[in-house]
Amino acid sequence: MTPRTTTNQGVPVSSDNESLTAGTQGPILLHDHYLIEKLAQFNRERVPERVVHAKGGGAFGELRITGDVSRYTKAKFLQPGKTTESLVRFSTVAGEQGSPDTWRDPRGFAVKFYTEDGNYDLVGNNTPVFFIKDPIKFPDFIRSQKRLPGSGLRDHNMQWDFWTLRPESAHQVTWLMRDRGIPKTWRHMDGFGSHTYQWVNAAGERFWVKYHFKTDQGIEFLTQAEADTLAGTDPDHHRKDLYESIEKGNFPSWTLKVQVMPVAEAEGYRFNPFDLTKVWSQKDYPLIEVGKWTLNRNPENFFSEIELSSFEPSNVVPGIGFSPDKMLLGRVFSYADAHRYRIGANYAQLPVNSAKAAVVNTYSKEGAMAYNFSGPQVPVYAPNSFGGPHADPAAAGDEGLWAFDGQAVRAGYIEHEEDGDFTQAGILYREVLNDDERDRLASNIVGHVSDGVREPVLSRVFDYWKNVDSELGKKVEEGVRGGI
Ligand code: NDP
Repeated sequence: MTPRTTTNQGVPVSSDNESLTAGTQGPILLHDHYLIEKLAQFNRERVPERVVHAKGGGAFGELRITGDVSRYTKAKFLQPGKTTESLVRFSTVAGEQGSPDTWRDPRGFAVKFYTEDGNYDLVGNNTPVFFIKDPIKFPDFIRSQKRLPGSGLRDHNMQWDFWTLRPESAHQVTWLMRDRGIPKTWRHMDGFGSHTYQWVNAAGERFWVKYHFKTDQGIEFLTQAEADTLAGTDPDHHRKDLYESIEKGNFPSWTLKVQVMPVAEAEGYRFNPFDLTKVWSQKDYPLIEVGKWTLNRNPENFFSEIELSSFEPSNVVPGIGFSPDKMLLGRVFSYADAHRYRIGANYAQLPVNSAKAAVVNTYSKEGAMAYNFSGPQVPVYAPNSFGGPHADPAAAGDEGLWAFDGQAVRAGYIEHEEDGDFTQAGILYREVLNDDERDRLASNIVGHVSDGVREPVLSRVFDYWKNVDSELGKKVEEGVRGGI
């Protein structure tokens, strides 16, 4: 026998199908509280969509440590032989909830590790760099990628206007426009922590670190034409691929690697190591293996476990800290703030977001939807004389301390020897891509720019690409002007 339907409070209901009316043709009665509960709940089924990364999907899995990075970090979940439960949410950035998975866009790669020292979130992308390097530009950047205020349409002219006025975007835009700008599936792309983080070892020594998730499935991509077709025929292509692969027992995995820079080397490095528009060359800082990260379990409920999942770069555990990367410092504030708005003050109490392997003893209390509470004898203030939790600096204390001068300034990053807005984009174009990839990059740019970019932005677009590489700039100009 199937279970009987109840109200939200567990009271049996008399009908799944008929409302309570005054006679068969009379009005619906206000005291049909089950009908009202059902309609009112339905009206509230959606939470606001994320202002960025609205369309996505995710799964659960585990990180198994296969390497030995204990000389760089004391983080318990990174010690040899450890296995830690994990959650990921992949996404596009600018598109809304129902937008196609195959639009050209960076992919979010947000990972949560349920560690014994509390949750650690690594909230990255499928690119090692980003469009901007100061968080004060983030709202402007995102608006330029979304929709025009009047028509509600997306607009390439607005996108290129912003990008060409902020040339530090060139490296990321080169990534975006080339093959890897549209992965074949989420399984076939790498992930990057992107920011520079800090690691602290048991002796208190500090290192700068960058994370790389290298796909074990191999890199595969979609051409612009394939992506355009799929946007119409299979808009949930990436979400479906991940779900179905895991359902079939075909568990995708990535090898987690890091680049590690001793703190003393940062100042003299040829690129500013905290500038999010730059990578650290792997020739200078080779990848070091950390572990195997595997996705092996689908959510049972998409809304509760993926839509309500909340990732925040502020979740760091002992042995890991922040860095002078200003984008990271801005995100340390803004993610938790976004969750308080989108889900509510107690978002961390939802099962998908709450610590699983650590005990929570917080002095945060009450608020909408408070679910967890301490016993009546536990004080709600600190310090106290009655056995409430107390801070333990020896157990914590690695949020990321570093030396800085005391003068408040509004200034750019200190320029290192080989820095420059176009340097690494040019290296990518000339030294990493092959001839076919270079041709497709130029063709993707020409197609994108030809869709609505006009003067005075257009001339700046040609200069932008000539600054990346003169041959590329020429190809873009010829391609766009030839098509006008
Ligand atoms: P390396 O030659 O040491 O590394 C090149 C990197 O590029 C590797 O990570 C490689 O990873 C990746 N790569 C290979 N083919 C492509 C491709 N078609 N499209 C994009 N990436 C590719 O050089 P450097 O570390 O000195 O970096 C040179 C340039 O490579 C940078 O300017 C940057 O744009 C790009 N890059 C650098 C990364 C870094 O963290 N240093 C990471 C990724 C790219 P794989 O072959 O495994 O895909």
